[in-house]
Amino acid sequence: MLNASINLNVRGLKKSATLEINERSIALEKSGNKIYRFGLGQSPFPVPESVVKALKDNAHQKDYLPVQGLRELRESISAFHLLNDDVRYHSDQILIGPGSKELMFLLQMVYYGDIQIPSPCWVSYAPQARIIGRHIEVIPTSFESRWRISPDHLKTILKIDPLKPRLLILNYPGNPDGLTYSEIELQEIAEIARSHRLIILSDEIYGLLNHSGTHKSIAQYYPEGTIISSGLSKWCGAGGWRLGTFAFPKELTWILNAMNVVASETYTSVSAPIQYAAIRAFSMGNDINEYLHASREILKMIGNHLFDTLVKKDVRLHAPTGAFYLFPDFTSFKEQLYLRNISTSSDLANSLLKETGVATLPGSAFGCPKEELTLRLAYVNFNGRKALDWYSNTSLPTTDGLRKVCPEPFDAVDRIVEWIEQLH
Ligand code: GLU
Repeated sequence: MLNASINLNVRGLKKSATLEINERSIALEKSGNKIYRFGLGQSPFPVPESVVKALKDNAHQKDYLPVQGLRELRESISAFHLLNDDVRYHSDQILIGPGSKELMFLLQMVYYGDIQIPSPCWVSYAPQARIIGRHIEVIPTSFESRWRISPDHLKTILKIDPLKPRLLILNYPGNPDGLTYSEIELQEIAEIARSHRLIILSDEIYGLLNHSGTHKSIAQYYPEGTIISSGLSKWCGAGGWRLGTFAFPKELTWILNAMNVVASETYTSVSAPIQYAAIRAFSMGNDINEYLHASREILKMIGNHLFDTLVKKDVRLHAPTGAFYLFPDFTSFKEQLYLRNISTSSDLANSLLKETGVATLPGSAFGCPKEELTLRLAYVNFNGRKALDWYSNTSLPTTDGLRKVCPEPFDAVDRIVEWIEQLH
């Protein structure tokens, strides 16, 4: 018998909740259950045709590419950030990785300060810090603050040790809540960050999925200390292609260089055909703009319908402003739920899955206290191709019309409502 000797930082950790619920949902479906997949946050939309064609045309690309990424691709990403975020980066300031998730891991590995993580936040930031052994400072937020960190709260935390090296992870439109920051809030956070020399990792992977197309990068207000994280997974529907990007200011080139070294010793470089195809994606153009416009309108209709339906039933929830997530709070049903032995968000998600087939993730997976009765709904369980075709062929698109072609998310929220009604 060999001695078990798992690294203590990894011992006891479980598979990421987003990937686990996806695999569990697929297995339940395979064994004949009707499952409404609100679990994994995967774009429902197909990769734009011109980008798929670029991938086909580049299937023969077989060479290892530069560790930092193909120059032409980095140039197109510089142009992308100038166009969408009004921030200028030289192509030497861009790093390409196999998903922004891996780049975040490398960043936390090469940077030695504390990691400040708002809660709730995406499931993997904290486990990554834990695997590496970084100290985490959690910044709790609340329903009342729209799950956003408040500049005043940030100031109070930073006062405790003002010049301690820290990396703050911001993410907006946010996972798990679908909400964003106002320009004023971004400016205030930027000012505080500057005065405390805080580095910001701004995870803007959902930026182009701001439902009204008005995303603003905090890099506009704090260019010297912000790293923008983006990629193909969400706005371009290509999560499985695994291509993420970081854009660094000149002042943080030391981090970029260190990440490049670790990249060269670990994944080498991102798949060559994917990088060539990504040039087409980041170059945008009319077809991609139309695709994005339609994607946003469709997500807005579904998100707002789900919001209206749940709020009518006394669920606490904010109207979505971006991405494809809602983060309802079922506290109003606390007593009824308690009578059913449901006292944590994880009990809630499990009961809902078992009794209605709606797969969601509990708030605790996003760092919320386990008794807070929140769930993340990823409203992506519909055929995105059908929805886009419908949108482009309809002169006056309405939510009722959308429901006819994409009934699944609408049916899923009806199941949740029926379940709530029988709690009374
Ligand atoms: N970001 C997606 C989610 O939160 C899935 C990808 C992942 O977690 O790796 O559901």
